[in-house]
Amino acid sequence: MQKEKIHILIVDDNPVDLEIIRTVLNENYVIHYTIDTAFTGMEAVEKASTGEFHLALLDYRLHDMNGIEILEEIKTRSIDLPVIMVTGEGDEKIAKESIKKGAYDYLIKDEINNILLTRTIQGVLKRKSLEDKIKEYHEKLKDLAIKDGLTGLYNHRHFQEILSNEFKRSKRHVQPLSCMMLDLDHFKLVNDSHGHQYGDFVLAQSAGILRRFARDTDFIARYGGEEFVIILPNTDLEGVLHLAEKIRNSFENNPFKKGEISESISISIGMSSTTDSNVSSKDDLITNADIALYHAKSRGRNNVCAWEEIESEDTIDVKEEYHKTTDFYNRIKNLSQDMKEPCVKSIQDIFCEFEAGCDYFNEHSLRVSFYAEKLARELSMSDEEINVIKYSALLHDIGMVGINSDILKKKDFLSPGEYNLIKRHAGIGADIVGQLKLFGKELQMIHYHHERFDGRGYPHKLKGRMIPLGARILAIAEAYDSMISGTVYRKARSSSEAIEELRKCAGSQFDPKLVDAFIEAIKKPDKPS
Ligand code: GH3
Ligand code: MG
Ligand code: MG
Repeated sequence: MQKEKIHILIVDDNPVDLEIIRTVLNENYVIHYTIDTAFTGMEAVEKASTGEFHLALLDYRLHDMNGIEILEEIKTRSIDLPVIMVTGEGDEKIAKESIKKGAYDYLIKDEINNILLTRTIQGVLKRKSLEDKIKEYHEKLKDLAIKDGLTGLYNHRHFQEILSNEFKRSKRHVQPLSCMMLDLDHFKLVNDSHGHQYGDFVLAQSAGILRRFARDTDFIARYGGEEFVIILPNTDLEGVLHLAEKIRNSFENNPFKKGEISESISISIGMSSTTDSNVSSKDDLITNADIALYHAKSRGRNNVCAWEEIESEDTIDVKEEYHKTTDFYNRIKNLSQDMKEPCVKSIQDIFCEFEAGCDYFNEHSLRVSFYAEKLARELSMSDEEINVIKYSALLHDIGMVGINSDILKKKDFLSPGEYNLIKRHAGIGADIVGQLKLFGKELQMIHYHHERFDGRGYPHKLKGRMIPLGARILAIAEAYDSMISGTVYRKARSSSEAIEELRKCAGSQFDPKLVDAFIEAIKKPDKPS
């Protein structure tokens, strides 16, 4: 059995007593002690302050100090070391006093033997370890109360406390105090396009960037959703401007990469300082930084602005301007969303005109869209992402228009040559849709919906996560619909047979995680409309 290793400091000015304790300790076969010694109180305190010892056995009577004085010195210097007081016979009163002053336990010199010593040491170490755990737990609780869970930065409440203290301190020491408000640009769009999980990832990474740039003396907090604030003690505006520009530049030039997503997200920054002409309270500092931030946004975002710069500008209401442009932008964004649906419908109508008698493709696309949406919802994708998947599904076979109608209408098995001709539909579809800028995101999914997870699909033999997520979803939805609907040359299968087949092909044809999610999704009620 591996022996425990305990590092002990024995403090005694009598070399004979010291050797007795050392010998008793060395007789122990379960615990391996490494022993160091001290002969005076001061030597003991110095050695204890190295933090190398698990505990100290301290003789009460030393030439230079007594045990209580040493305990007090240990406390004054905040040395974290449990002490067992060793006293002579008849000194029990002193021993009890030592416990009051912080000793963990005591031993009477003449009574010391292996069993008693081991039991006392083990009892003390156990108590110490419990106390350490409680301390650690308290630290965690303290952290939870003042920090934000997602970013690890200070939370809004604690930020207000810091600001109060730092504002008073800056007044007392007549030193400048500056404040920086930072807000990620178009962050709503980031969530809408890539989901909340990616949004959370960006927030956590952003906190890391701010930590890298700030000094140890600065305080960084998460002010709100995607807003941060930095308090910079003893820093004038020039210093803050310099730092703000470095932060802005870093956001602009370093895309946030997670899996297949890589997105550049810019940041706008407003700054204020106690040197601003109107600042007489901590709230003025925040208000100025906030106004400056609105100005940074109104200059087109990805901008830094100090309150001092705008002080001389005409007093226009930038907040009103900001909200107006934001509303306008949202209306335009909705407009392009609204345009997609009638556009897809028209494309399908035109397809029917070109391919009379091929209604199957439109009906099949509707069902694929239904199943793909189910899977996307199971994966908790954002509404915007789900819409892209739905439209991709509705358009995924549009490239069939470029395939000879005789092949499309053939009621018999396709020859390998004919099958190769059919394979071109993915590329043709992407080419057609690529010309409609409205469907920029759908393009990739249409192009790659016949790729296989093992890299043996077409048209580009993409493998695994190199295949866009939406295309991996479409592949499963399409296969499932084809199986349960049947084709001219293959009889329809039951839902459970189709699920079994998906399971068989998980990892080869399909993304196995998505197959699992699809099976979960399909179990849930509601039918294709
Ligand atoms: P602007 O450039 O004007 O600041 O535009 P914006 O889209 O960044 O600002 P807006 O205030 O309209 O939207 C902020 C978004 O931040 C809305 C909300 O979905 C998102 N958000 C807030 N807190 C969190 C969070 O904890 N996680 C994630 N993922 N998103 C969050
Ligand atoms: Mg924002
Ligand atoms: Mg905001």
